[in-house]
Amino acid sequence: MAGGAVRRTRFAPSPTGLLHLGHAYAACIAARSASPGEFLLRIEDIDRDRCKPKFETTIYEDLDWLGLNWQHPVLKQSDRMAAYGKALKRLDSLCYPCRCRRGDIRAALSAPQEHALPAGPDGLIYPGTCRGRSMAGIGSEDVIRLDVARAFDALGLDRLTFRDEAIMPGHDHNLSREEFLNGIGDVILSRRSMGTSYHLAVVVDDAMQRINVITRGKDLFDSTWIHVLLQKLLDYPTPLYHHHRLIRDSHGRRLAKRDDARAIRHYREEGLTSDDIRLMIGLTP
Ligand code: GLU
Repeated sequence: MAGGAVRRTRFAPSPTGLLHLGHAYAACIAARSASPGEFLLRIEDIDRDRCKPKFETTIYEDLDWLGLNWQHPVLKQSDRMAAYGKALKRLDSLCYPCRCRRGDIRAALSAPQEHALPAGPDGLIYPGTCRGRSMAGIGSEDVIRLDVARAFDALGLDRLTFRDEAIMPGHDHNLSREEFLNGIGDVILSRRSMGTSYHLAVVVDDAMQRINVITRGKDLFDSTWIHVLLQKLLDYPTPLYHHHRLIRDSHGRRLAKRDDARAIRHYREEGLTSDDIRLMIGLTP
């Protein structure tokens, strides 16, 4: 981030369930790191099958109850399909259509057991079966993948870097081309019947909304490499990152949407205050 620039952060939940304590922590961290600065809320609802309007409503209510204030209007990813389509078009020459299903990928990787298969932040590392297919031959059942080796070649880069103000602050995080190819692989930029993917949508929106400090959980640290590569390919600036700790249950497991018992909504109904919630997640009220 350029010295002296106003910090702009965002909290970007998907309305697929009730917000839990992990979301409360992520939202509070994003809002606090924009203090002073600008805090935005973005509704990440590209997965039309899993996102529900009722959960979008509870996001607004719960964040309001937590005492957070965000800028209006709120951007919804479902309104942004044209922008994602345009970005995808710009990357067309570096992409290929892929018809492989999970079973095909598993078979091509030919490991005896699932846990022995190479996996990265997006699941199994794609073995490249469809690489070389032309975008002109794309079918309705195909996903679109980025040919990562060609992307690095087009950029003339042999490594990516970004900075994180929470992890090794003041030093570059580095990933080489080879590490990307072996540990992440040819990522999906457009999923079947979605017209985009989480990675493409988040990069396009963070750039359009001029977010210059991206706060989010450490579980997304490895996905950040995909975002940095896409930022370079689309000529967007790479923001400063802040990957924060995750809120875990008493067994040490990361909270998930299915952990309804830890939903902000339930604590609220039991009569707890937003200060109680902050104390529970280790933040000062
Ligand atoms: N929609 C994503 C989530 O709920 C946000 C990820 C991000 O902050 O980039 O996990």
